[in-house]
Amino acid sequence: APVLAIVGRPNVGKSTLVNRILGRREAVVEDTPGVTRDRVSYPALWNGQRFTVVDTGGWEQDARGMASRVAEQAEIAVELADAVLFVVDATVGATATDEAVVRMLRRTRKPVILAANKVDDERGQLEAAVLWSLGLGEPRSVSALHGRGVADLLDVVIETLPEVSAIAGPVEEGGPRRVALIGRPNVGKSSMLNKLVGSERVIVDNVAGTTRDPVDELVSLGGRMWRFVDTAGIRRRAHQASGADFYAALRTQTALEKAEVAVVLLDASEVLSVQDTKILSTVIEAGRALVIAYNKWDLMEDERRHYLEREIERDLVQMTWAPRVNVSARTGWHAERLVPAMDKALASWDARIPTGRFNAFLGELVAANPHPLRGGKQPRILFGTQASSRPPKFVVFTTGFLDPGYRRFIIRRLRETFGFEGTPIELTMRIRE
Ligand code: GDP
Repeated sequence: APVLAIVGRPNVGKSTLVNRILGRREAVVEDTPGVTRDRVSYPALWNGQRFTVVDTGGWEQDARGMASRVAEQAEIAVELADAVLFVVDATVGATATDEAVVRMLRRTRKPVILAANKVDDERGQLEAAVLWSLGLGEPRSVSALHGRGVADLLDVVIETLPEVSAIAGPVEEGGPRRVALIGRPNVGKSSMLNKLVGSERVIVDNVAGTTRDPVDELVSLGGRMWRFVDTAGIRRRAHQASGADFYAALRTQTALEKAEVAVVLLDASEVLSVQDTKILSTVIEAGRALVIAYNKWDLMEDERRHYLEREIERDLVQMTWAPRVNVSARTGWHAERLVPAMDKALASWDARIPTGRFNAFLGELVAANPHPLRGGKQPRILFGTQASSRPPKFVVFTTGFLDPGYRRFIIRRLRETFGFEGTPIELTMRIRE
């Protein structure tokens, strides 16, 4: 889905507006200062159009309202977004900070929508009109608090965002497959990218059609082109000094939006961190194909290697289906092995099991392992089908609730029977009386 970044000074009402846009009263506003939020983007829907909202309120905590920092932070989000919603407090007017943000926004050449917030009634319209002076076009007056003008604003947002299909949508058949190279800071993403690109880089593609840094890079690997998405986010290291965690989380999410397969780099020389497992879960939640690459294998020592095996068994049990490759970005060792791993993961991600085969599978599974009796009754599986692929999603129609353990068992058997190496799969049930 296309990404909308919401930018503005503290206290202009960004979070309230985000809640309005998301159409829910979720606790975005209630986030306690000082607590790191692990979500920075939210799925939004307007008039049947999906888009992703990136709320840059998340790292105001260390911004302290200083003009340069706010602009710098906004720049990070803007770099990764398809369009920007710039929120100004109409009752205050444009401040020096706002003007610093405007200068930055001009440089990026991203489409900007100006929201004049806190226009609670007709009288406020006049104050909003003054914001024409910012040179960002028509100020759209809204009251995030009361909801006034938000529908009109969202219409403008949808008009401004690029078509979904142009960004992520169903991939152009035969086009290069989209890869997100992700991992926590310092695992070696940029080293790996440089290794892969090497002298092979053919085209630096400017997807968003702006004149800024390239967003994606097309790389030839294994005789084919691959689109590494959001590589600008890997190469731009200057930003990482401030708001490093936020920046990393943001890049992970936006890269995943646009990718089909994620290559998650882990540092083989260090203990698996909470951030690593979070990133892996994010990939699964996003429903993307997954390859795990243990980088810095050149630093591997026997003792660590033994421990690593146990760590994998203990902490990566949820992802045993993901192909694992040991690599060294520094020496280039085994980097070429990423290609067959990505191929395998994508083939599973694309896979479709014919309905007949799936039902034969269900029939055998139930015959050999009936669902445990519950209160003398036994839920029966009537029929199943694969509802979609990318990733594979299955639906089973039943006469009653299937135990979560039994559903996990079906998924495990699905993997044993059909492979699905490298892709998350989903199983839902529909209960028919
Ligand atoms: P990023 O933040 O994920 O982009 O990480 P970088 O690519 O900047 O790498 C962080 C540090 O790890 C740098 O000092 C690299 O030289 C080092 N590094 C990256 N890959 C390897 C590797 O395979 N082996 C070793 N020994 N060091 C590596």
